[in-house]
Amino acid sequence: MTAVAQDREVSVVEAAPKKLYINGQWRDASGGATLEVHDPSTGEVLCSVADATEEDGWEALRAAEAAQESFAAMPPRKRADILMKAFELMHERKDDLALLMTLEMGKPLAEAYGEVNYAAEFFRHFAEEATRISGNYQTAPAGNARFIVAKQPVGPSILITPWNFPLAMGTRKLGPAIAAGCTSVLKPAELTPLSMLALAQLLEDAGVPAGVVNIVVTSTAGKVMEPLIRSGIARKLSFTGSTGVGKKLLEQCADKVMRTSMELGGNASFVVFEDADLDKAVEGAMQAKMRNSGEACTAANRIFVHESVISEFSEKLAARMGELQVGRGVAEGTTVGPMVDAKQRDKVAELVDDAVKSGAEVVLGGEPAAGEGFFYKPTVLKGVPREARMWREEIFGPVAPVTPFTDEGEVIKWVNSTEYGLVNYVFTENLNRALRVAEAVESGMVGINQGVVSNPAAPFGGVKESGLGREGGDIGIDEFLESKYIGIAVN
Ligand code: ADP
Repeated sequence: MTAVAQDREVSVVEAAPKKLYINGQWRDASGGATLEVHDPSTGEVLCSVADATEEDGWEALRAAEAAQESFAAMPPRKRADILMKAFELMHERKDDLALLMTLEMGKPLAEAYGEVNYAAEFFRHFAEEATRISGNYQTAPAGNARFIVAKQPVGPSILITPWNFPLAMGTRKLGPAIAAGCTSVLKPAELTPLSMLALAQLLEDAGVPAGVVNIVVTSTAGKVMEPLIRSGIARKLSFTGSTGVGKKLLEQCADKVMRTSMELGGNASFVVFEDADLDKAVEGAMQAKMRNSGEACTAANRIFVHESVISEFSEKLAARMGELQVGRGVAEGTTVGPMVDAKQRDKVAELVDDAVKSGAEVVLGGEPAAGEGFFYKPTVLKGVPREARMWREEIFGPVAPVTPFTDEGEVIKWVNSTEYGLVNYVFTENLNRALRVAEAVESGMVGINQGVVSNPAAPFGGVKESGLGREGGDIGIDEFLESKYIGIAVN
């Protein structure tokens, strides 16, 4: 990627929408408050956007409620056409979308392009699903009735998304919601609202009717969202974020027994057996660890390598990690951007310091990068002891902790010794072992000889405290549908 000219950075931020999008209108927050958006690679303010109050939240929810009936009645083909148009517009506008994302979130521009593409695929996937929503017709076992099972939209939905994939986490929820005929209020993370506001503009241009998608950006998420969730007007909450916040939201949803999809934290293991293709494993580890600079719930958090190959693997991994170029996402050649903010960088530093204090050896990096912005150096740690905090906590940064193991049964126990269960990665050339381990590990997803599992056409989600429900795949749309059984007596 070549470097981006400074005036292009300024003009893309200037042109980006910065108001709330409620009932098809772009408006300031009631009271006129704004919040600042920062560039994490410099710490400087990029711009200010409207900061919604509780009143704005209510207006958004009422707009979604009012639009629900007519949107549910829109022919599926029309909903599919809108999503397909949105897919095309994302490709047309990819330069601006990618740059905006890099500026507010920090990821290297090449990765931002990758995300625009990935995010757009959710619209295409769900455009294709929209016209395939089907039900069932069945004869009662006693023969005296017929059962029709119809699928209907769950109703107005609240969608809450994180900062690490500012576009894709939005399209992964908006795609199935629109396909199923659900209106929504979407609250993006306050650190990265620009991508979502640009997406709202795009959806409007694609023909999404007023009130169907409402975007509320706020610096007081708890205060604005809790009354909306507890009201019961929305019938569904789809959340991607931390397990702690997810649990709080589940409690709030319990009030009115709302449907929920929860995509929460992870503590992925990356297991390299002695019979693995080590070059493939190193490449896989680079992807599983370094995609999004490690700021992903799917990131390899614990790397277990068989003791007979750990030296070779660690050397190769450190060599590859050492080639990475840390810098502003818009600069030429950057492969690792900054952490999203100072808090995130300090958390990474704290976890590394704790591991080193407990006895881990620093093979590469091991400290924040000097200078402006929230950078942390790509880091490889060897022999991280089990009492280290990073064994249990999500690192969310460019830190690869490598630990030896000797035996398949032992490593499976270690993999499962966490309250999380999102994804695990297994590297082996032995098919029987691959299947055995894939079946034994407790996670919603398993990558075999691959370091990335995310794909709009596959069901993404976790077990245990990593979440509830699945996004994407042929079952992703079910999260936004109810089954209605209609019994018909037959004489
Ligand atoms: P992360 O650690 O990735 O920042 P969070 O769970 O804190 O994860 O944030 C994910 C999303 O949840 C963000 O949009 C954030 O604003 C939102 N959020 C955080 N706290 C609350 C809350 N109490 N109620 C509703 N949304 C919240």
